[in-house]
Amino acid sequence: MSEQFEGIFYRVGMWRGMPNYKCMECNFATLDGADKVIAHVRRRHFNWAEKRQPMIVVANKRGQEVASQEREDAGMAAMAGEAIARSEVIGKFGEDVGAMLIDAGLSSLSSIKPLTTDDLVKIEGIGKARARKILREMGE
Ligand SMILES: [Zn+2]
Repeated sequence: MSEQFEGIFYRVGMWRGMPNYKCMECNFATLDGADKVIAHVRRRHFNWAEKRQPMIVVANKRGQEVASQEREDAGMAAMAGEAIARSEVIGKFGEDVGAMLIDAGLSSLSSIKPLTTDDLVKIEGIGKARARKILREMGE
């Protein structure tokens, strides 16, 4: 299932003629394939303890939890949704302004939509002119 996350959590480049799987959050890269980079993303960039919902654990005869994969997949899908929303903000406003907005908790375009100039100037690094530009771009 890891391939569906290409362009969301990792990019594939080439290194000495081999596909190189690069994490989009940090400098991690591997030649060992999509599963390896996704394992890295799960380990390093996703707080499972926080995302886990309390639930009844279903176990098989060996006592192994059978629901964990489904739960992980659901968690990954949620994380992919967040990553897509973040990349929308970066795509619309560029790396610099996009990062400021995301750092301020505005990780999706729909969270920026209801804001006014007065709201935006409260964000560190965003002045009146930039706030107006952001709102103008939101309207386009
Ligand atoms: Zn990483």
